[in-house]
Amino acid sequence: MFTATGDDWADRAATLPLHTRMFIGGAWEEGSAEPLTPVAPRDGRALPKISAASVGDVDRAVRSARAAFDSGVWSRIAPRERGQLLIAFAQRIHDNAEELALTISLEMGKPVREALQTELRAVVNCFRWYGEAADKVLDEIPVTAPGSLALVTREPAGVVAAVVPWNFPLTMTAWKLAPALAVGNSVVLKPAEHTTFSALRLAELAHEAGIPAGVLNVTPGTGQVAGRALGEHHDVDVVTFTGSPEVGRKFLGYSAASNGKRVWPELGGKTASLVLPDADLERAVRATADGCFYNQGQMCTASSRLLVPRAQRDRALEIAADVARTSLPADPFEVTTSMGAIVSERQLAGITGFVERAQAEGGELAAGSAERFHAVDGGSYFAPVVLGVTPQHEVAQREVFGPVLSVIAYDHVEDALAIANGTEFGLAAALWSTDLNAVHTLSRRLRAGVVWVNCFEEGDMTIPFGGVKGSGFGRDKSLHALEKFTDLKTTWIELS
Ligand code: NAD
Repeated sequence: MFTATGDDWADRAATLPLHTRMFIGGAWEEGSAEPLTPVAPRDGRALPKISAASVGDVDRAVRSARAAFDSGVWSRIAPRERGQLLIAFAQRIHDNAEELALTISLEMGKPVREALQTELRAVVNCFRWYGEAADKVLDEIPVTAPGSLALVTREPAGVVAAVVPWNFPLTMTAWKLAPALAVGNSVVLKPAEHTTFSALRLAELAHEAGIPAGVLNVTPGTGQVAGRALGEHHDVDVVTFTGSPEVGRKFLGYSAASNGKRVWPELGGKTASLVLPDADLERAVRATADGCFYNQGQMCTASSRLLVPRAQRDRALEIAADVARTSLPADPFEVTTSMGAIVSERQLAGITGFVERAQAEGGELAAGSAERFHAVDGGSYFAPVVLGVTPQHEVAQREVFGPVLSVIAYDHVEDALAIANGTEFGLAAALWSTDLNAVHTLSRRLRAGVVWVNCFEEGDMTIPFGGVKGSGFGRDKSLHALEKFTDLKTTWIELS
């Protein structure tokens, strides 16, 4: 089912139905802000304009979500019934997976094959998993003195605003929506400007699956207007956000300046892949380079720093360069393509700037260049770059969000640890070694929310995902995510 076949994806894209209006209270509505003007990164073609939400439109969406919440049509039905509707929603997504994958590929440039195999598979799995979990969450009866009974129950928080990025548009959306809905909240979703079409279609599928009107609303628009309006709204109870550190911190400010709503920020990363001297260098470097170039490097967990013993540095550069040269971008609509387009010309300019500055700072270019790559006329493409740098180079400190790998030599494991922990981020890290002692001691000292050992990007819905330090403190996935969207209620009963 999740296998892309055929060569007619470009033809299908030309006739793909795309929604262009806000989705509020189960109906399509025109927004009153300046419309969005999306462009297909594959070939630079203008896509249909999208109606955008103003502050007033966002207020209407929040009021619709609040009315649905207060009515009990979702918040007070049996958890099992909510779970079944989420599973029905997952099935609708499954049945429309090819169309959704093509929409994502069109709007943000990832290969249609990847969108289908990885993203849509994850989205279906996520809604199904939380649908199944909905009636398996237990409340507590703590031990108290005889003569009293205390109940600790979890209640839905109310209205949740989900503000998400474009790199894994529907996966990030599912990670927010599924747990928030499973426990009975109503949601207002603000998709990223580049990936609004897929979000609007998702909302329609939720509606078709029987999720009541007003429970899921979508307000397309800019971050500065629609995103900010949600952050500052006095009747939003929770903001769940994935995106850049700058904007994540803005949401904390919006909360402080409005109603003190809970904000769950999941922000950027600068993953270090730490190869110990005993590791299989070839395997570790290949996996790290693949992990850095995947999704055109537009990943919060991209393994963008490869840390190797100094004696192995040159060999590591060679292996990584080989991976780079065999991972060239191509047409996202070809099923054989594994690297597609960069999301926008602006993002592309940001990436080339990083490479130019790295070279000017003395970085050694082992593969690629600071030039754009030509795959499809008019499109935004960039071939992977491998750089030999020091930990202080800008490219080894800041998040590039493009296929640029920094290879860094270390002298002692203690130095490697300091380098790995030496950025503002703390999302993920990888360790390569078969020394059990080293693996356990180092993984404890890596300041990261996720540590992969002898693998990269492995995971399951059952495990939490999120970071520490500048990478934020929200956690997606697993049963822990349900806690973000509930309040603990204590009911104390005196028995006579
Ligand atoms: P971004 O922060 O620019 O935008 C994210 C969302 O915030 C978008 O919907 C955008 O419209 C909105 N926004 C932008 N400015 C805003 C403002 N002033 N007020 C309110 N909302 C605003 O991020 P992006 O470019 O879409 O995504 C890339 C970033 O996301 C990277 O830093 C990446 O590491 C991070 N990311 C993190 C994770 C994770 O799980 N930790 C996953 C994917 C991406």
